[in-house]
Amino acid sequence: MIKDIISKHINTSRTPVSDESNALVRHVSDILSAKVISAKSGSEVLTWVIPEYHHVKKGVLKRLNGEVIADFHKNPLYLWTNSINFQGKVSKEELLKHIMTDEKRPDIIPYHYKQGFSIRSENWGFCLPYNVFSCLNDDEYIVDIQADINNNEDMLTGVAQAGSGGKTYIFAAHTCHPAQATDGLTNVALLTQIFKKLQTMDLKNTYKFVFGPEYYAAAAFLDSLSDDEVKNINGAFFLDLIGATTDFAFSTSFQGDSIIDSIVEHIFNHNVLKYEKRGYRQLIGNDEMFYNGPYYNIPTVTLGQIVPPYYHSSDDSYENINFSKIEEYEKIIFDIIEILETDYVPVLKYKGPLCLSRYNLYVDCQKNPQGYKHIESAQIYADGNVSCFNIALKTGASYSFIKKFFDELISHNLAEKK
Ligand SMILES: [Zn+2]
Repeated sequence: MIKDIISKHINTSRTPVSDESNALVRHVSDILSAKVISAKSGSEVLTWVIPEYHHVKKGVLKRLNGEVIADFHKNPLYLWTNSINFQGKVSKEELLKHIMTDEKRPDIIPYHYKQGFSIRSENWGFCLPYNVFSCLNDDEYIVDIQADINNNEDMLTGVAQAGSGGKTYIFAAHTCHPAQATDGLTNVALLTQIFKKLQTMDLKNTYKFVFGPEYYAAAAFLDSLSDDEVKNINGAFFLDLIGATTDFAFSTSFQGDSIIDSIVEHIFNHNVLKYEKRGYRQLIGNDEMFYNGPYYNIPTVTLGQIVPPYYHSSDDSYENINFSKIEEYEKIIFDIIEILETDYVPVLKYKGPLCLSRYNLYVDCQKNPQGYKHIESAQIYADGNVSCFNIALKTGASYSFIKKFFDELISHNLAEKK
């Protein structure tokens, strides 16, 4: 399912308000029977204005002899996001004012995103690899940019749900960014697979998957919630850059000490060999600023990877996706959800140190001194007020080790769930 979604949408011009971004939202909504929120371009959500709808019909830069230098239909990155229309002959001097290039990464087409996140587009332009840019030796060029730009279309945001009780947790990823793989798309594909599985499970909590263009989908979703719905949200996870070639990383919520911060750090600490922890919005600033921003202030952790050297360029491509990182992340996310779903407060039914060997729970202090210590202190911490997860934090043991121990006590009728 992950590869299907990615290969279908990878090379499309998924600007914030476009048929291409909407097509991805519809595709995922069909798989997950998600609710779709429509917000008209030009309309206000929170204090933001939904950008103009853009549909590019042509985006070509060529030499007077007809040789094509850049063609939107070959790669949407060649054209600036939401470029305005322009047709005509221009001097080299004029053209250079409308070119974005990246000397430090001479082989890639850079991604010009700014106008996609502006209320109105005001300029036209092309992105070129520096190696192509440095060969612009002619005096004149032909520009042919034709696009439908209007405020008549809707921006779509999907909201899929799994479970309906307990507390609500949000998972979000963005659908926009033309021809970018790990900046948006891979994360949407991974969450689609995760939610397809969650929807078949018996769940204690409610999980919502919000997918749509960066910033605006978060605004449209939050704007659609009642005060009670907002109050029931216990945390949010934003996914970005998953499937990159770089190391795992996460950034904490603004609060930094929320329950989801502790759970994420615990899982990374025990289950991930190499990762980096960053502060709020220090990995890659995204929709956290809405969820974990003024008024809503929902603790939001970003799950991702270190920003790769090919970030925002034509090399964030299908060929460069590391699918094994996506698989590993699926496991990490299910480990996080497992704690949210299964944690409980154990209450001991015995006094004094338990004769562990009688119940086959003995850990040899010679062979496994750490396990021995963890079991000893876990029983002392279990005073009827502390959950398995918090006991794991206090002892330094993994959640799965501690929970397994108390589950066994319960099976021997030596403890019960509060
Ligand atoms: Zn981006």
